[in-house]
Amino acid sequence: MQERILYLVDVLNKANVEYYVFDNPTLTDNEYDSLMDELIKLEEKYPEYKVSNSPTGRIGNEVIAEFKKFTHPTPMFSLSDVFNEEEVRDFDRKVTAVVGKTSYMCELKMDGLAVSLIYKDGKFVSAATRGDGVVGEEITHNVKTIKKLPLTLKKPVDLEVRGEIYMRKDVFNKLNEERKKNNLQLFQNPRNAAAGSIRQLDSSIARDRNLDIVLYHLPNTNLSLHSQTINYLSEVGLPTNPNNKICNNIEEVMEYIAYWTKKRPTLPYEIDGIVIKVDNIEYQKKLGFTVKYPKWAVAYKFPAEKVITKLTDIVCTVGRTGQITPNAVLEPVKVAGSTIRRATLHNYPYILEKDLKVGDYVYLHKAGDVIPEVVGPVIERRTGAEKTYEMIKNCPICNTKLELSSSKIDYYCPNKNCQARMVNSLIHFISRDAMNIDGLGDRIMEDFYNLGIIKNIVDIYKLKDKKEDLIELEGFGSKSVSNLLISIEESKNNSLERLLNGLGISGIGLKSARLLAKKYETMNNLMNASFEELLEIKDIGEVLANNINKYFSNPANRILINELEQIGINMNYNGKKVKFAEAITGKKFVITGTIDFMNRDKIKEIILDYGGNVSESVSKKTDVVICGHDAGSKYNKAIELNITIWDANKLQEVIESLN
Ligand code: NAD
Repeated sequence: MQERILYLVDVLNKANVEYYVFDNPTLTDNEYDSLMDELIKLEEKYPEYKVSNSPTGRIGNEVIAEFKKFTHPTPMFSLSDVFNEEEVRDFDRKVTAVVGKTSYMCELKMDGLAVSLIYKDGKFVSAATRGDGVVGEEITHNVKTIKKLPLTLKKPVDLEVRGEIYMRKDVFNKLNEERKKNNLQLFQNPRNAAAGSIRQLDSSIARDRNLDIVLYHLPNTNLSLHSQTINYLSEVGLPTNPNNKICNNIEEVMEYIAYWTKKRPTLPYEIDGIVIKVDNIEYQKKLGFTVKYPKWAVAYKFPAEKVITKLTDIVCTVGRTGQITPNAVLEPVKVAGSTIRRATLHNYPYILEKDLKVGDYVYLHKAGDVIPEVVGPVIERRTGAEKTYEMIKNCPICNTKLELSSSKIDYYCPNKNCQARMVNSLIHFISRDAMNIDGLGDRIMEDFYNLGIIKNIVDIYKLKDKKEDLIELEGFGSKSVSNLLISIEESKNNSLERLLNGLGISGIGLKSARLLAKKYETMNNLMNASFEELLEIKDIGEVLANNINKYFSNPANRILINELEQIGINMNYNGKKVKFAEAITGKKFVITGTIDFMNRDKIKEIILDYGGNVSESVSKKTDVVICGHDAGSKYNKAIELNITIWDANKLQEVIESLN
């Protein structure tokens, strides 16, 4: 444990220098925050191992010699971080335990650098960075160039006032474009660009960089509420943030967080969280400070959308069609609220294109509901020990020599009896988009296959004869067996398209299965459809038409379908005829985030029933993006492309209006 603490102290101290002194971080903020969080917790648990140079007790970094030192009349503080709803509520509990019920001022946490300004008689006198909280760097010459900052206030007052210097996103993008043209090192984010501009000896650089400023704290005041101090700052002519809001209780705080989590991409500047401050200044005094933080405020940090973790291995899996997929094995890491251990790498050319090596630190991205994606290696963190990945030559399950697809992208295991292929086709058959059988997860199906209980699709429907044996199996009670058997029986009534999807005809997913079921209405009609007839269906091209014909001309498949019919599985299309609704018919939808009142499959079904279309990605052709909470990059894309957005309320309104 001591070793881990020393390691964290070392890594974080180095990161502080790179971040605060050179404005060039080598860790992402989330990586830094999670290491810092780990160190704080370890030091709490093992105080005997805490070392004197630990970064947990220190604000920022020491002041470097180039700038004049500036001692803050009132020390500047940092904020303690919280990362989830539970921790926000915990903060509220601690506050109310001391002062009773209270209201909070919620503010956007500007992602820039803190600054303290001194005005005398209404005239701007000096500006300084936070430094170590007591002594900062004097940056008056640069701050003077910020156009938004009044050099004379509307009232001749003396003030020590705090705020944030930041760079707008558009200014940042333009700056980096120019730097790229001139072959200069790019700034990693607007915060580093702002900090790099302000910590310059030559003020013409800051002037040209077009910085902004917002003020949010007046440390010495006779006013009784923090919100009144903000109004006062506006009155004297200082820029404040119009999005600040007084929240009367913690529920309103949670609403504010949810609102800005969603709206964050629409802001012209970056924010990295929400600052929650006790509004009553008497209460603030009662709550006081720790060594580093006020106890009356906290910073809620947004979950990471992009993190760094280690790629420890690449392993291949075999899909139901025999397709080999390489997967990244990752050091577990939290991204956008969930812990990620694996991510698909799609195919071998993808690994080459991204230049991924085993042992690399990699950027991992997960926005909202999108599957985690390995974005690429962190080249700066390579040590030389990383290993180039060689694609496997034989199936990892049955050892058959792999074959390359005609597109030269994917490798396949050609062995039709490969165990992995068999198990995965069974898993596909019962999956939600196919026969939708509850109670038989991937793991159980694998176990049943290995135990010889289920070897093929028909065996699934014979499980009812093995009820007693199943109850004996570990982890299977009589209740779960009954539920499973009910779900299997119910699946017999599924509409034809689910069965068609479940059969695993190459290239046929639920969408194309639905088209076929609608057109042919019975399995028999479809089995006898000619190649030319199939081609008449929009979205069925030559490859699919050929796959369908090939599947049904295989005697083994005909026997299987016959057996399934004997078992009592529905072979007809149950779907309703397409209905008309102006809001839906003929339109293209994308669904993102979570809608509380209805699951995604049901929403999809309604849209399809009314002749709409649902796709996975947002493009110019999308008509409507339905956004639930925790919506991710699709929401941003919709805003960017100016596409109509329906929130849960709008969706409910439309659904209620349908006949
Ligand atoms: P912080 O950024 O977590 O929070 C405090 C700061 O928030 C204040 O000093 C102020 O500048 C800012 N702020 C923005 N809006 C505000 C508002 N409305 N009211 C009050 N304050 C507001 O803490 P910090 O001490 O400034 O910086 C630590 C953070 O910096 C870390 O959590 C990490 O994210 C980042 N960091 C990253 C690295 C790295 O290597 N990537 C290294 C060091 C620090």
